[in-house]
Amino acid sequence: MSYNVNEKGYYGEFGGAYIPEMLYPNVEELRQNYLKIMAEPSFKKEFDQLLKDYVGRPSPLYFAKRLSEKYKTNIYLKREDLNHTGAHKINNTIGQILMAKRLGKNRIIAETGAGQHGVATATVCALMGLECIVYMGEIDIARQAPNVARMKMLGATVVPALSGSKTLKDATNEAIRDWINNPVDTHYIIGSAIGPHPYPDMVTRFQSIISEEIKWQLKEHIGKENPDYVVACIGGGSNAAGTYYHFLDNVNVNIIAVEAAGLGIDSGESAATSVLGKEGIIHGCKTLLMQTKDGQITEPYSISAGLDYPGVGPMHAHLSITGRAEFMSITDNDAMKAGLELCQLEGIIPAIETAHALAIFEHKKFKKEDVVVVSLSGRGDKDLNTYIDYFKL
Ligand SMILES: *Cc1c(COP(=O)(O)O)cnc(C)c1O
Repeated sequence: MSYNVNEKGYYGEFGGAYIPEMLYPNVEELRQNYLKIMAEPSFKKEFDQLLKDYVGRPSPLYFAKRLSEKYKTNIYLKREDLNHTGAHKINNTIGQILMAKRLGKNRIIAETGAGQHGVATATVCALMGLECIVYMGEIDIARQAPNVARMKMLGATVVPALSGSKTLKDATNEAIRDWINNPVDTHYIIGSAIGPHPYPDMVTRFQSIISEEIKWQLKEHIGKENPDYVVACIGGGSNAAGTYYHFLDNVNVNIIAVEAAGLGIDSGESAATSVLGKEGIIHGCKTLLMQTKDGQITEPYSISAGLDYPGVGPMHAHLSITGRAEFMSITDNDAMKAGLELCQLEGIIPAIETAHALAIFEHKKFKKEDVVVVSLSGRGDKDLNTYIDYFKL
């Protein structure tokens, strides 16, 4: 059984490139070149250098002593929250901006929901002096004012998506429309391990630095490079894909994927795609997708903006169907409690997305000798208002 993408862009039955014909030249150009470019020594050198000097990698692998004592196991936190811009997303945008430059593109477009990917994209465009246009739903623009301000300060143009529900899905449609109209000079930076092939694989490879570092860092800590468990939260699945990547084929390393249950799986207000999703096509790939009986995409819900995506990346759909990964769903309430607990036990304020991954310890018992590595995907500064409202701080 392979858990990696095949030549045609499939993870088992999921993936592929289901795109309008007018998008074909752009996607095909990327498909034919991405592996070649990533393998070039000059590309690797520039990518590694920027990850080190600009992003601040390697991010620490931290043994969380008090958290481990509480749950009677060994918990290590992979500190992606300490990256420049506060999350793992910058690993991918650095990789893609270098890819765009090698492909001779001078105009960058992106979609964003909560604005985190928009900020990470605007950041690397400023770094490289490239034009940056970020599509964002009109409703999200109103909800996420600080991130809109950040993107503007970084020199990006934020274009409101006015159609449909005026959220992420509509912003994505606008970005695709733009790309069709500007096939020659524009690169579309997708923010998660989703979209048509080769995006899920390309994003996964850029994020795989996470598990590459975990291996040698764990060896430094405990003398062996493989943990018993790797754990990550899943929106589209990019921090998870990066955290799992170098362990996929080692079945002694258990994989746990954590989705947002929102108000509860059966509440109608949730983003637990692996449980509620059916096979369908979203943003150019075949995957598990929350939809009505007649195939209309249902609006997902989670208290964390980064997890309320109606689908899941095709790698994760495959990991779910094959049973390679154990999927757990965590409610808003349990995530918020786990977030506050990390603050008070370890002095780390996590993003609410990340707090979902931390909440599994209340629901699953680990052995005393188990080594559990959790991807601390991002920091909680952006979520302060949500924490304040929720806990009446
Ligand atoms: C965007 C985001 C996520 C979800 O995105 P993935 O692609 O599933 O990783 C998780 N955590 C943080 C902190 C984020 O910003």
